Amino acid sequence: MDLGIAGRWALVCAASKGLGLGCARALAREGVNVVIVARGAEALHTAATELRALPGAAQVVTVAADITTAEGRQAALAACPQVDILINNAGGPPPGDFRDWEREQWLAALEANMLTPIELIRATVDAMAARGYGRVVNITSSSVKAPIDILGLSNGARSGLTGFVAGIARSQLARNVTLNNLLPGAFDTDRLRGTLEASARRQQQPLDEVAARRRAAIPAGRFGLADEFGAACAFLCSVHAGYITGQNLLIDGGAYPGTF
Ligand code: NAD
Repeated sequence: MDLGIAGRWALVCAASKGLGLGCARALAREGVNVVIVARGAEALHTAATELRALPGAAQVVTVAADITTAEGRQAALAACPQVDILINNAGGPPPGDFRDWEREQWLAALEANMLTPIELIRATVDAMAARGYGRVVNITSSSVKAPIDILGLSNGARSGLTGFVAGIARSQLARNVTLNNLLPGAFDTDRLRGTLEASARRQQQPLDEVAARRRAAIPAGRFGLADEFGAACAFLCSVHAGYITGQNLLIDGGAYPGTF
């Protein structure tokens, strides 16, 4: 299927690795010009080299910056001639016990996983509407739908973003500017490997056993792949998805047990 987005410009945040890179890869394969942002220049360079080598790839621009800072967002926006597609993403907050979190930890989570996407949406959607085409995809988490106790910072901050997006997606922006959230379950990325290692240390059990138990609890029997996630993202950004807005799409191998 031709997604009809070749030649468009996408700003993909937190995209040197993992799910962000999966999204950048899927968009680049469609001939979308991508601006990828991440903090570390080295991983960003490696990612850009890979993206440029993809068949059909157009321009790949890198911005080494922290997207959760005003300067980082400014640099990212300045590097993108026009933002037709915005993929919001940043590192997730650390796990822990809510009794240990002070205001400072909450503010950091809100900054990364709620206020940064809102700032980038605010900076881009009116111009998308004026041009008659816009796609915003926020990478959130399955924890928005099925909260995880030790991820309270994530549950709270991402739910705030989800509520905000639900409101504006139903505004006049819906005229060919869509805003949707993708909710990853367990995907095989550095982030997941880090959380599995922490669980293995806590439980004093071998990593491969902890990982095997986690995989077995997923109906699909495996972790998700960043490219599978990217493919869903690219479809939401396509000309074919103009009638899908304000949705929360769970991609979790069937882990969430509810009917809806
Ligand atoms: P990852 O650690 O594999 O990759 C994170 C990427 O984000 C890297 O490129 C890193 O450089 C970049 N990054 C992090 N903080 C940044 C910042 N402040 N500014 C710019 N770039 C930044 O992580 P991932 O697994 O791809 O996760 C992406 C998001 O999805 C995270 O918020 C994570 O919590 C969430 N998530 C992941 C999973 C999963 O199973 N992988 C599940 C649920 C939610």
